[in-house]
Amino acid sequence: MEYGQVTCMRSNNLNETIAVYNSKVKEGHVYKFFRTKGDEYRYCRCKELGKYRAIRIINDTVVGRKSPEEGHHPDCEPLPKAAVLAAEGDRDMRHEVRTHGKRPRDAFNNMMSALVYRLTHL
Ligand SMILES: [Zn+2]
Repeated sequence: MEYGQVTCMRSNNLNETIAVYNSKVKEGHVYKFFRTKGDEYRYCRCKELGKYRAIRIINDTVVGRKSPEEGHHPDCEPLPKAAVLAAEGDRDMRHEVRTHGKRPRDAFNNMMSALVYRLTHL
């Protein structure tokens, strides 16, 4: 089974991959996954709540027997999309400044264009 596309981005500590999946149940909300190894990903929020649920993402598509919206911790709700993208955009910006020696102002401008692109193309 295939469950639709994800958008990949950089995570917290700047060298992990995070995948963002649009909820079909709750419009304008997303689930965040982080890569554990290879094509295996885990739910971020569920992990904070102490529950493990793994999915596979191949070529930016969620595959498996269960929908990525099933099997969550009862307190695990999808997050507002805009909040997730803004947080990830900020991390990308800091990464650009740190690793590519970009001027903060340029990095900020790049981040804002990327953010607008993501918001309009997800
Ligand atoms: Zn969850």
